[in-house]
Amino acid sequence: MDTDEIGPRCLHRLRARPLYTRPARAVRLIYSVGMADLTGNREHNVVIIPGDGIGPELTDAALAVLEAVEEASGGFHLRLDVHRGGAALYRETGANLSAESIAAVRAADATMKGPVGLPEVRFPDGTEAGVLGGVLRTGLDVYANVRPIRLLPGAEAPIKAEPGEVDYVIVRENTEGLYLSRGKGVQTSEAAADTLLITRKGTERVVRRAFEIARQRNGAPADGVRRVTCVDKANVLPSMAFFRRVFDEVAEEYPDVQGEHLYADAAAQALVVRPQHFDVLVMENFLGDILSDLGGGTIGGIGLCPSGNIGDEHAYFEPIHGSAPDIAGQDRANPVSQVLTLAMMLDYLGEGAAAELTRRAVEESLKSGALTIGDYGQPVGGTRAAGEAIARTARTLHG
Ligand code: ATP
Repeated sequence: MDTDEIGPRCLHRLRARPLYTRPARAVRLIYSVGMADLTGNREHNVVIIPGDGIGPELTDAALAVLEAVEEASGGFHLRLDVHRGGAALYRETGANLSAESIAAVRAADATMKGPVGLPEVRFPDGTEAGVLGGVLRTGLDVYANVRPIRLLPGAEAPIKAEPGEVDYVIVRENTEGLYLSRGKGVQTSEAAADTLLITRKGTERVVRRAFEIARQRNGAPADGVRRVTCVDKANVLPSMAFFRRVFDEVAEEYPDVQGEHLYADAAAQALVVRPQHFDVLVMENFLGDILSDLGGGTIGGIGLCPSGNIGDEHAYFEPIHGSAPDIAGQDRANPVSQVLTLAMMLDYLGEGAAAELTRRAVEESLKSGALTIGDYGQPVGGTRAAGEAIARTARTLHG
């Protein structure tokens, strides 16, 4: 392939499906795709962190799908660099990610990780040790945690809704809020306190990201209106009232997108009883953590939910759920979250067609019954078989 062609073609793809990218990233991407391997394939350097618990099973399944998608769609190749990270590593070495791995993540075009954390690996204050949120989210300044919640065909949802009726994105602030207190709270034998910090800069950038995402979507399923909902507790906490004020200021820059407010408790109900109303929601870190699991529950379980942690310079991708130690190593976990995580990463890398093929392979597998999600959101036939079914479908769809 003529390398002169790669940049413009890639940019075209970015424009066609740029949901998880930013213009600054697009500029970097031209350099990244400018490197082609000997067969002329676009190459992207990707770090893989399999993680703890069900993480390795999920990443294996997602990589089986990647192999099929690479073969089927052609034209690109992910050069994978596997690194250990998480609670098991912390238990062994006292570090949740080595300095070498952190450097690799920083240098990579993107990172895909499985969930991390083990219940028995704890700090003396009872909080989890060995999780990577602090080192990666804050360290890479990936300030937007983008969590799409979409009802898939064939998924058993506990709410009354059809596929297409639930399709929104939660944008969770990722570097401040209540979780900034991680490892820093004050504790005595009689009391404990954490601090919730909201800054103007932190809020402006995540709210802008939410509006940019809304601009690239087709609006809410109920009415097709491009809408960003600011979720907060501005009626109780001054920090949240500040978040709302900054939201209103940023919203003025986007007259083509409707901005609205909703208190977090009301949002918890609304996401269950009228999810069709929502397009993009933006909120503080802790609220986003809780409400995205709620959203995941409404569409058939968190085992179906991917996410991206995206800043201006770096990004890494992971399922929204934890390492599920209760089912780890038993071939019972649902790999769809990880496969859809892979699709988000492909989008970010500018491989929109491959991302779309990955998503379609998941949907067609569920529709055709090649993949069935059974009790407790677990795939019938197991994790490995589920990954193979999606991979087979990807090959068929392209053929
Ligand atoms: P974290 O706080 O790290 O997100 P958590 O304590 O909320 O983790 P999870 O590990 O997310 O807990 O698990 C919650 C429940 O969901 C568990 O019963 C687990 O088995 C189930 N679960 C999580 N992920 C999956 C999956 N991919 N497939 C099937 N079940 C899952």
